[in-house]
Amino acid sequence: MLKTHTCGELNRQHIGERVTLAGWLHRRRDHGGLIFIDLRDRFGIAQITVGSESADVVRETAAQARSEYVLQVSGLVQARPAGFENPNLSTGEIEVIADAITILNPAKTPPFYISGAADDVDESLRLKYRYLDLRRPRMTQNLILRHTIVRFIREFFSDRDFIEIETPILLKSTPEGARDFVVPSRLHPHEFYALPQSPQQLKQLLMVAGIERYFQIARCFRDEDLRSDRQPEFTQLDLEMSFVEEADIRALIEGMLIELCASLNAKPIQQVPFPLITYADALEKYGIDRPDLRFGQQLFNLTKAVSASNFAVFKNAVAVGGEVKGVVYPGGANLARRELDELTEFVKQYGAKGLVWIGVTGSPAADGTYSAEALRSQVTKFLAPEEIQQIVALSGAQTGDLILIVADKSSVVAQSLSNLRLEIGRRANLVDTSVLAFCWVTDFPLLEYNDEAQRWQAVHHPFTSARDEDWAKLESDPGAVLAKAYDVIMNGWEVGGGSIRIHRSDLQDRLFARLGLVKEEVQAQFGHLLEAFQYGAPPHGGIALGIDRLVALFAEATSIREVIAFPKTAAGTDLMVDAPSPVTEAQLKELHIALRESKTKEK
Ligand code: ASP
Repeated sequence: MLKTHTCGELNRQHIGERVTLAGWLHRRRDHGGLIFIDLRDRFGIAQITVGSESADVVRETAAQARSEYVLQVSGLVQARPAGFENPNLSTGEIEVIADAITILNPAKTPPFYISGAADDVDESLRLKYRYLDLRRPRMTQNLILRHTIVRFIREFFSDRDFIEIETPILLKSTPEGARDFVVPSRLHPHEFYALPQSPQQLKQLLMVAGIERYFQIARCFRDEDLRSDRQPEFTQLDLEMSFVEEADIRALIEGMLIELCASLNAKPIQQVPFPLITYADALEKYGIDRPDLRFGQQLFNLTKAVSASNFAVFKNAVAVGGEVKGVVYPGGANLARRELDELTEFVKQYGAKGLVWIGVTGSPAADGTYSAEALRSQVTKFLAPEEIQQIVALSGAQTGDLILIVADKSSVVAQSLSNLRLEIGRRANLVDTSVLAFCWVTDFPLLEYNDEAQRWQAVHHPFTSARDEDWAKLESDPGAVLAKAYDVIMNGWEVGGGSIRIHRSDLQDRLFARLGLVKEEVQAQFGHLLEAFQYGAPPHGGIALGIDRLVALFAEATSIREVIAFPKTAAGTDLMVDAPSPVTEAQLKELHIALRESKTKEK
């Protein structure tokens, strides 16, 4: 080894020892006669001191060295002079008095300082020079955390008789609701592999194979339209078990997450066992199926109460079968007009036509009602006094609060209010960031109607089972069929989802038919699965957890890109190696591919 110790391990116990360190020049301070070098390696930072007692050649080398030079330094460990200790550094009590310095490799001036804050650097520059960006202690920590979590997961499941099995990357379409990435086959002209959107069908086939307990840290590929903080390839803990029901999978995963939190010394979990919330309830109370439970502000529903209202905004929404719902902004009664306008613009992003606001500025009368003077609103004149009293009462607002209401199609109400609730959480500082809030969302509908395609589609994926008692409704009332599916939510992020699967080929066939797939399509795409189910498929179910999201949450990172070594941009490109990129004509020819149109024309 070119070093005897790491830059992070030296402390008082090493005083008097001669050590050799090697790493990168993190920072250098030159005080004329005295040069301080912060030498960094993966394990930490040590202060190298080059003073009058160092030989001339050592002083000269130290004076030459620049940011990110690779250095090897030998010297004596000493206690720092009193008053010069750095309590923020594990090696802050000592310094190494250099008696030899070798420049192992000089470095060009880096495009950004490794010692500076990542936020100050344009992200595309960070991604182009990712190998420098990863030198930041924070980024290295994220990679270490990721490793720690994956290692924990591997041990946890291995200890419980699960086996990790690799499934192929070059395969056939396994639908999870996104587009496939396809790979042309050279040996089979005009034929393509698809990269797996998940190992879904393979893990089910492993259950038919009698494996009973499978897991994999699996790479998944989904060619989706650009959405912030998605990656075209991402990593899941993929898991499947035989002879289980919903509660078994939930208990297993919940136990794993609780132990993981403990082993990471993470923040306390808000509620154990994790609360169970039905999909319908989540939508009613939070407008979304992944509620952030670190604060309250549940939505209130006025639809029934205002069904006879003459106020056009309410009336129109109710007339088209929409909803009138709202959320309370605590202490917001006297928000400036500008802020109210901002909130209105905010909900408009989600398709809402506007935002009705009522500030409860005054105190209630003895009977609990509010006089017109006690309220501040642009709509009081359109609403009957009793109506206003009812709204205030149903909202649960108190003196000083602001009532915000959206009246629209249900989907617009849900989208705008779920986001408005989060925005209020941020603005009014309501989020309890001292805890981790997990919950399970259950009882999802099995199917949803796709207006554009004019047919029913699976909410999770087409292998999810309906509840036993709901199969009867599959043809007559498909929208009312509930699934044996569950999602696990952490701080408002969906970190995992799974289901009990269909394991009978007749039921799987029925579902495919309900989804509008014709026999030939089913045979070509899923023939293998249907056939396998005829050879004694056990009841089975599973789940997949997003590793990138999980690590990002524990790292308190702002984006999953912070916890992926070499992520792609939001546009799906790799700025470091410049991918995707054209291939040569010869490669295309080998693959039997001719490009249809010029790039500019396609755009
Ligand atoms: N295959 C599903 C997914 O990737 C998870 C599962 O149902 O196990 O979301």
